[in-house]
Amino acid sequence: MPMFVDHSPPGECIFCKLVKGEIPSAKIYEDELSIAFMDIGQATKGHVLVASKRHAVNLLELTPEEAGAVMQTAQRVAAAVNKAFDPDGINIFQANGAPAGQTVFHFHLHVLPRFVGDGLSI
Ligand code: C5P
Repeated sequence: MPMFVDHSPPGECIFCKLVKGEIPSAKIYEDELSIAFMDIGQATKGHVLVASKRHAVNLLELTPEEAGAVMQTAQRVAAAVNKAFDPDGINIFQANGAPAGQTVFHFHLHVLPRFVGDGLSI
């Protein structure tokens, strides 16, 4: 399968629905261009996703303004997560394309608190 393909049927993108409030989410921050919400899977305690509000499939489809906004939001979220969960470290990661591990084809990055012995291998 080609790497940079929008796998969501038109109008069916789950994160677009979340941005529009059509499905519930534990939203923790939003501004004009970005939104942050708790990852439903909680790979570790305090796992947050930061997404573009506009439907962009991946990093290559973001405008420079969107890229700046999501990274600023990620920094704010990382600071909040650090305060709230007192992790031993924090990963910021982001997948582009199914072969890279992307499963939701609407741009998002992960703010993932890490704890000694958490057993994750990313
Ligand atoms: O990087 P990747 O595309 O694999 O990440 C998708 C993430 O979206 C997963 O961590 C999954 O738990 C999360 N997710 C979510 N809410 C949904 C659907 C998926 O937080 N409704």
